[in-house]
Amino acid sequence: MSPVLYIIIPCYNEQEVLPVTAPLFLEQLRSMQAEGLISSDSKIMFVNDGSRDKTWEIIKDLSAQNSSFVGISQSRNRGHQNAVLAGLMEAYSKCDITISIDCDGQDDITAMTDMVKEYLSGSEVVYGVRSSRKTDTFFKRTTAEGFYKFLKLMGVEVVFNHADYRLISSKVLKEFAAFKEVNLFLRGMVPLVGFKSSSVYYERKERMAGETHYPLSKMIALAVDGITSLSVKPLRLISSLGLFMSLISFAGLIWAVVSKLTGNAADGWASIVCIICLLSSVQLVCIGILGEYIGKIYMEVKKRPRYIISERTEDEKDGK
Ligand code: UDP
Ligand code: MG
Repeated sequence: MSPVLYIIIPCYNEQEVLPVTAPLFLEQLRSMQAEGLISSDSKIMFVNDGSRDKTWEIIKDLSAQNSSFVGISQSRNRGHQNAVLAGLMEAYSKCDITISIDCDGQDDITAMTDMVKEYLSGSEVVYGVRSSRKTDTFFKRTTAEGFYKFLKLMGVEVVFNHADYRLISSKVLKEFAAFKEVNLFLRGMVPLVGFKSSSVYYERKERMAGETHYPLSKMIALAVDGITSLSVKPLRLISSLGLFMSLISFAGLIWAVVSKLTGNAADGWASIVCIICLLSSVQLVCIGILGEYIGKIYMEVKKRPRYIISERTEDEKDGK
């Protein structure tokens, strides 16, 4: 039996682009059905993220015209990550696989065929990776690539040049549902769930219509969210800085004492330097230690699952 696919598409103020891309999504769905890759019950699910324009009306029209289109609407604008999550959580009990993709046609829609093929050959998660960013402006390209490098440096595991175009099986989503955190950075969280994964490469294109909702300020906010919600490395860096400063302070201390003894120092100078050096390094080390504990508390309050079982011999016997 071919798997039931749900394509999850977050939409925020996209009245210009939806009428252009919706037929393309449908065409892709039909072509995968014709190839026998996916079931005829597969659907395209739009998630309206509290749009203020006619987006929701367009989604309702589409679903009235064609039963392959379905829509859900968030009560207000919550941001791209929450919209994708809402779609995934809504869909996973109704299907075997989901593919999340932006609605603006920037990501190559036809790459879905390869994603589904990867799933059929055993991958539970398939990342869509941008092979080039020729159409992005120099600024967007440098900031976006810098973003991935910085995340990695800060201890967040991400697939380079992969955004939120990915296939996730409902088996993985069932486990993912146990990740209860409120600050979402899906592309850093999905790798945490594990399971067999692979990548499909495609060229990123220009937006088909409308304007971006991800200016630099939102990208920075996303990076900060990603780092602070997935990694305690910044806290650990304070400890390292503390130790490094202690070494420098120790050298400063010796210098002050030597200057005093050789009579090269004004009265009171050496003692002030010694106090500053000692206290500042001790303080940084103490903040670092506090940081370690805060990091632990932070990870504990997330109440993430402590283990995830991907396969069981019993399931295989039942033919699941
Ligand atoms: N989006 C959303 N809520 C928001 C902002 C964006 O659902 O608050 C959706 C938007 O409709 C699009 C996707 O997220 O489908 C990516 O946004 P956009 O194309 O503006 O970002 P860019 O590709 O320029 O980074
Ligand atoms: Mg876009």
